[in-house]
Amino acid sequence: MKEKQRILKHPVLDFKRGRKINFHFERKGITGYENESIAAALFASGVKVFRKSKRFGHPEGWFCGIGKCSSCLMRVNGIPSTRTCITPAREGMQVEPQSAKGMLPDKTSIQVARKEEHVQVLIIGSGPAGLEAGITSRKLGLTTLIIDENPVPGGQLIKQTHKFFGSKEEYAGLRGFEIARIMLAQLKNYKGTYLTETSAIGYYPEEETGKHKFLAVKKQNDSYQLLEINADNIIITSGANENYLPFPKNYLPGIYGAGGVQTLMNVYGIKPGNRALIIGAGNVGLIVGYQLLQAGVEVKAVVEAMTHIGGYLVHASKLARLGVPILLRHTIKEVKGEEYVTGATIIEINENMQPIEGTEREMDVDLILIAVGLSASTKIPFQAGCEKMFVPELGGWVPIHNENMETTIKGIYVAGDVSGIAEASTAMLEGRIVGAAIAEKEALNPEASQRVKESALTELNQLRKSSLLKAVAAGKIKCQQKWNEAKNHEQ
Ligand SMILES: Cc1cc2nc3c(=O)[nH]c(=O)nc-3n(C[C@H](O)[C@H](O)[C@H](O)COP(=O)(O)OP(=O)(O)OC[C@H]3O[C@@H](n4cnc5c(N)ncnc54)[C@H](O)[C@@H]3O)c2cc1C
Repeated sequence: MKEKQRILKHPVLDFKRGRKINFHFERKGITGYENESIAAALFASGVKVFRKSKRFGHPEGWFCGIGKCSSCLMRVNGIPSTRTCITPAREGMQVEPQSAKGMLPDKTSIQVARKEEHVQVLIIGSGPAGLEAGITSRKLGLTTLIIDENPVPGGQLIKQTHKFFGSKEEYAGLRGFEIARIMLAQLKNYKGTYLTETSAIGYYPEEETGKHKFLAVKKQNDSYQLLEINADNIIITSGANENYLPFPKNYLPGIYGAGGVQTLMNVYGIKPGNRALIIGAGNVGLIVGYQLLQAGVEVKAVVEAMTHIGGYLVHASKLARLGVPILLRHTIKEVKGEEYVTGATIIEINENMQPIEGTEREMDVDLILIAVGLSASTKIPFQAGCEKMFVPELGGWVPIHNENMETTIKGIYVAGDVSGIAEASTAMLEGRIVGAAIAEKEALNPEASQRVKESALTELNQLRKSSLLKAVAAGKIKCQQKWNEAKNHEQ
């Protein structure tokens, strides 16, 4: 692969890679750029296998690209289990794959500075939900700290090159990365702290005072800062995880989630492969299919198990016009390759979702993109003890919450995909509702706060009447009913 995997010309994006830097992987020299993550720089240099699975010994490589899975854990400067997909590459780093046994750090001491913060609102995550919650709460006078574990702020927005669907008031019609820029600029108009490369790691309430305390770790090159954040209110906007599919050898490098592919291609300007097969014809599969073509990747086919295309016709037509077949009632049967993908077999399925023997077809691909839905990223609210509920319309398990987005723990709120898989406009509106609900509760600008909240609620309910969001609306009602039951039970 080497340097030719870097995208030099793109119809929409202009990659600002920064200065060239050199580091070591297994004692071999790797050249990357200062604005790349370690994993992205390795991938661009042709390193596809990042580690061997501890349990099964099989190869693992790039996958989620946003710090949510374990495929890229490595030892970096002697520190084990570093998430290399969200750790920027730095000059002179020593990176080693981490297979077999876990090992303690080489260093006898890792510099960890401790710092205490007190804020009225802590926001975890800076996708559209977190950014809008931050803008609203700051605008209404609350002291607000926003943290995000990714080096580049904006959540899913930063990798979307297409013009967004959704509500015009929430920037529909603009490209995702443009929306992120506008929101970040708005946030900067108000006072407050915003920390990237900072992970929320756990909730530890103070028993005596009942106050909320979150621990977070901020990475600073080779040292770490432990933040003890005392917050009157917490808004969790941690987004979503991608769903996976069971099929033989589904672990091979070359099989990636849609978000992982977008991160490589649209954030770092690296071609994820040369010939792709896409699984899933929902909006995500179709949109990323088009983005792959923009990046110069040949898309061999999209396979879809259902009898119809789940995504918008406009996205399907773009692919069809460029000659990409969308094969309904088809799925993946198996993958070829030992260390990474060298091909795949697809197969037709019947009305009972069973494969039809004899309909197999070989595909000459080196990239398989899985786009079969998302599930809420609920580790943080569930660790905090928020009660949960399985709501199929919201993508599975979600924290129970009310109309103000408050969970069953007083003062802990959720917004965006973590509260149910939907889309960016509704994520922003939920963020705005929470920001305003907290300001109203804290008796800051109560009238203005109430006005902001009511208007966002009206807009949200209107949006949820659309065919795309009707199911989400039904799921949210189930959640609110459960929240009321839980509160009645408490009394
Ligand atoms: C291919 C694709 C196309 C899409 N197209 C559209 C579209 O056209 N229109 C539309 O409206 N929507 C679209 N969406 C959906 C939209 O992007 C999401 O619904 C939206 O981004 C959800 O926002 P969020 O703020 O809830 O989460 P995210 O945008 O996922 O942001 C979550 C943030 O939380 C951070 N985080 C997570 N855990 C921690 C932690 N422990 N500590 C610190 N930070 C943490 C993450 O780093 C991330 O930045 C698309 C999605 C995809 C994948």
